Amino acid sequence: MTIYPTLEVPNTLAAGPGPGNTDPRVLERFANTGIADHMQKDVVRGMLEAKEMLRDLWGTKNVYTYGVAGTGFSGLDCVLSLILPGDKVVAFPNGTFSGIDSLTIRMKASTAEELAADPLNPRPASVTVVETPHGQSVSGKNVDNVLAETKPMWAFMAHWETGSGRINDLKGFSDACMKHGVMGIVDAVSSLGVADFNIDDYPGVVAWASCPQKGVMSLPLTYAPVSFTDKAIAMVKKRGCRTYVHHPILDARHWGIVNDKDVPNAVYHQTHSCYAVAAFHEALRIILSYGRQRKADAYAYHEKALREAVEAMGCDVTSDMTSLVVLNLPTELKGKEKDLVAGARANGFGIWPTLSEPVQIRIGILNQLSSEQITEIVSRFADAMVEMGAGFDKAKVMNGLKSYYAQAA
Ligand SMILES: *Cc1c(COP(=O)(O)O)cnc(C)c1O
Repeated sequence: MTIYPTLEVPNTLAAGPGPGNTDPRVLERFANTGIADHMQKDVVRGMLEAKEMLRDLWGTKNVYTYGVAGTGFSGLDCVLSLILPGDKVVAFPNGTFSGIDSLTIRMKASTAEELAADPLNPRPASVTVVETPHGQSVSGKNVDNVLAETKPMWAFMAHWETGSGRINDLKGFSDACMKHGVMGIVDAVSSLGVADFNIDDYPGVVAWASCPQKGVMSLPLTYAPVSFTDKAIAMVKKRGCRTYVHHPILDARHWGIVNDKDVPNAVYHQTHSCYAVAAFHEALRIILSYGRQRKADAYAYHEKALREAVEAMGCDVTSDMTSLVVLNLPTELKGKEKDLVAGARANGFGIWPTLSEPVQIRIGILNQLSSEQITEIVSRFADAMVEMGAGFDKAKVMNGLKSYYAQAA
């Protein structure tokens, strides 16, 4: 038997696509919450209040809006559970995460025979996967064309694809779904809490999923926000759903959503953690008091600072999201991406490579919305590049960043 020493995890700078740097207030709530069971009145009140705050964050009147315990993929599993074997689906992936979501869709839409034919990577006849190359955005026009031709029941897209840092055409997607009578499902894992949008403005989308650790900033493992329109819930009522724990209707009961209405009491679904509820509640309070619009503006402003700084180092930025930059190294450092990232990570500077081809570097700014924090990120990335043999003048880059912030102030 081996009993290992206490696990110590150092504090690193989370400067990747996610998770972001958890707000100390969220951690404080997590650590200072008393022990109380999942039906204790303040824990339940916290869940009911969080549900209401989540509706403001999503910009929706959807009654079925709540948190799924777990990570982003837990929320996605819940919304993608709308899809039953044999359903006709078109998925529009353009990178790592929407690629994984498309795999989930293929698993859920497979018949028993299709699943058995290739259990880890099924290819059901009812699912069409329309790939948009890495580095490009899914266009509404393409969605419109494909839906016109295939006439599926469901269509899927990521709002912001974090693998390549690309923003997809949400309005075009929703409009195409409306036009062709298709029910849209969207992965908003990377956009919720970063972009300022109201899901009710996209009526073609009937189900949405996000995550705790990107824009919402509640990593200590809490809740993946989800929201369903009445139309999506009507489908579940009519046809059912092959899951208990991620069941869109049953899971909602613990958040005081019963028979399509808010009720003052929770109905037991699973043993929710008082610590997670308190942390998630605090994260929502933080983001709503900061202001959705103000936060979106701050991300855009600081992303531009980072973008210009890495361009001054000779990098080529191919992303258009505001929470991270995805870049190609200058020619002289081509092929050294993984070494550069590994070196940075070994020094507690948590940047990332892309997880699927082509190899690029991703630097994120989640919850790093100050000139001091961006300066730290730029400085550490400059050091990592210089160590790999880059030839730029770091002082010049840092001065450029300084004047960006000076001009704005
Ligand atoms: C991060 C991410 C996911 C996965 O979220 P987890 O919290 O790792 O489960 C899914 N989709 C997108 C677009 C993401 O950015």
